[in-house]
Amino acid sequence: MTEGFTGQFIKIKGIVQGVGFRPFIFNLAENHHLTGWVRNSSSGVEITVNGDKSDIDKFIAEIRLNAPPLARIDSVITEIIPVDHFDSFTILTSLEESGNFVPISPDMSICPDCQREMFDQQDRRYRYPFINCTNCGPRFSIIRDIPYDRPKTTMAGFSLCKNCCREYEDPRDRRFHAQPVACPDCGPQVWLESGGKHLAEKETAIQQSRAWLHAGKILAVKGLGGFHLACDASNSIAVDNLRSRKKRSDKPFALMAFSLEIIRKYCEISAAEENLLTSPQHPIVLLRKKAGITLAEGVAPGQSSLGFMLPYTPLHFLLLEPEPGFPEVFVMTSGNLSEEPVAFVDNEAIQRLSGIADGFLMNNRPIHMRVDDSVTRVFEGQLYPIRRSRGYAPQSIPLPTSLHQILACGAELKNTFCLTRESQAFLSHHIGDLENYETLNSFETGIEHFKNLFRITPELIAADLHPDYLSSKYAVKRSEALALPLIRVQHHHAHLAACLVDNGWDSDESVIGLTFDGTGLGLDNVIWGGEVLIGNYRAFSRRFHLSELPLPGGDSAIRHPSKIALAYLLASGLDYPGTLAPATFLCYEERTVLRSQIEHKINTPLTTSMGRLFDAVSAMIGIRQAATYEGQAAIELEAICDPSEPDAYTIPFDGDTILIKPLLEQILQDWSSSIPQTAISTRFHNGLARLSVELCKQIRSETSLETVALSGGVWQNMTLLTKTLALLRQEGFHPLIHRQVPTNDGGISLGQVMIANKQISY
Ligand code: ZN
Ligand code: ZN
Ligand code: FE
Repeated sequence: MTEGFTGQFIKIKGIVQGVGFRPFIFNLAENHHLTGWVRNSSSGVEITVNGDKSDIDKFIAEIRLNAPPLARIDSVITEIIPVDHFDSFTILTSLEESGNFVPISPDMSICPDCQREMFDQQDRRYRYPFINCTNCGPRFSIIRDIPYDRPKTTMAGFSLCKNCCREYEDPRDRRFHAQPVACPDCGPQVWLESGGKHLAEKETAIQQSRAWLHAGKILAVKGLGGFHLACDASNSIAVDNLRSRKKRSDKPFALMAFSLEIIRKYCEISAAEENLLTSPQHPIVLLRKKAGITLAEGVAPGQSSLGFMLPYTPLHFLLLEPEPGFPEVFVMTSGNLSEEPVAFVDNEAIQRLSGIADGFLMNNRPIHMRVDDSVTRVFEGQLYPIRRSRGYAPQSIPLPTSLHQILACGAELKNTFCLTRESQAFLSHHIGDLENYETLNSFETGIEHFKNLFRITPELIAADLHPDYLSSKYAVKRSEALALPLIRVQHHHAHLAACLVDNGWDSDESVIGLTFDGTGLGLDNVIWGGEVLIGNYRAFSRRFHLSELPLPGGDSAIRHPSKIALAYLLASGLDYPGTLAPATFLCYEERTVLRSQIEHKINTPLTTSMGRLFDAVSAMIGIRQAATYEGQAAIELEAICDPSEPDAYTIPFDGDTILIKPLLEQILQDWSSSIPQTAISTRFHNGLARLSVELCKQIRSETSLETVALSGGVWQNMTLLTKTLALLRQEGFHPLIHRQVPTNDGGISLGQVMIANKQISY
């Protein structure tokens, strides 16, 4: 026996299943002349090796160094054990231990190897729309249960053919134990149907779908995590048809093009944006639109940017493959009616989308979990998430400390929920606006699925303070049914905490929170949204807020910026000319009702919302009077900003109140002097950035705090974010912004878990 011959047991935790980890270990062990075995367990991967001590050390070092691209190693624990005298190195069957959990890989875009094979005429998977390997393909969307093995995925119904079986069992093959492995002989197939008629299959179905897209038809395409609605983005009639059938009047559509070169014709792409577009996640990236491009205006009305993604499934490549005369850019919007969650079950999709789509490009691989496309942008060279879903969820977010097992139910709009286990937060995929039965249902089944996948039994439940959110109602019901403590978390406190966790903040030290958003219930029952907080994970105080102003009609005001503008002017006691845009937009009766509403305080809850202030300014200067989606007036106001405008409005504060009246006066004054909209909009943005810094300086003089967390939906405004950060840094502050979760309400549940955890001490 060699000197130093020994046995070692190694346990690895992290994303190590479904990412080609065992074949990687197998080959590594052989390279280092080690014998033993590797297997998946419910908590990660376990390895036993026999060999020379120095070889084992090199083997362990290389595990961390050369792990497969989709793997993430959280911990490696080793232990010396007696030598076992194995003949070889083998891969053992999975071991199931109840109660343990292993992180699950998100769905990943098709890898370059599979892409090459798919377009290789000699390959047996030539033009096969479900080609995948251990480095790519569906994961989260097809997993029914753990451990991640084929019988527990929606691929269970497809038995492997001889060739696939050989690849699946060969540790030297790229498809070794790739659970979704399939080929034209044994795997899922596509077909095209319309009006209940089966029109074509396989390659013919793809060719006919292309012809339909070319002809301006709207196609429902069953994809990775749900259905898309697709059409030619340069065809105005097709785009307008899609808008009217989908009942989505202005909200921008996501676009897909075959290659970066095509996208570059329409948008500016920085190196960081290119990296994000081509990353394994393949999210939608918001890119600056080039001037004079030839897409249908209806694709993204009033926007200065376009949301593009690259093909991320093999089917996308086949569908969009360039050809002379064939369209280059396609609308790829989620397959739903406005407001409803994206469809992902075949029958239901056909039922719900038949009034929208001319045809359905179907396939028989079931989707277990619906997952929407992620939406991102690049800010200062790094990811700035807007919707964290496909490719990212359910990857866990590291927490600064180990937490109780908590379920946080999030807010209402852009809902996500969050479950915790030890120091990991499992933030859900994007659920959507919890405003109807379908979305609520998807929220509830999502929670059950996550609890099961990650073996989490919540010890307490956290919810927003707002009693009427469906997520809060669910939390109350569940906490009563399960006799669990329920912790109500103030919305803006949750934003602040979310920004801190996002930045790995691990202390009890307080920070300044610039929490600017549209809506969140305050401690005093006022609708908050323009809040400057001082706080940490445990508690917060509200140091500054915008003036309280009346919101005519309450929540419905979101759709009526014109009414907000006039209500703010009237409540501030300001006279406005009859020629002001919102005054001409609303008819005499509407204005009379509004006046009386304000005067008698009828259905005019008070708000300090920053989002609504943007709506009011947008309407005042004639940008947008009626909005069809939340934030539209603000987005269009930002879109016209002029970077060369140096002036700023003065926004004073008195005690704890930021005064809006002087701001409205300056805007009225400029408007009356025919100052262009672009200048007014920019002066407003500049004024808010300066105000933010003045407020922080005031707090610093009182508390010496220098860290500033920027959270809330308003920080999706890149102009305001850029200007505010520059001033904060110039004044020596340490600003924190979101990097892993959205700054909008999609990040709320992550903040809720941290705050709830501090509330219990048992
Ligand atoms: Zn692949
Ligand atoms: Zn096969
Ligand atoms: Fe919010």
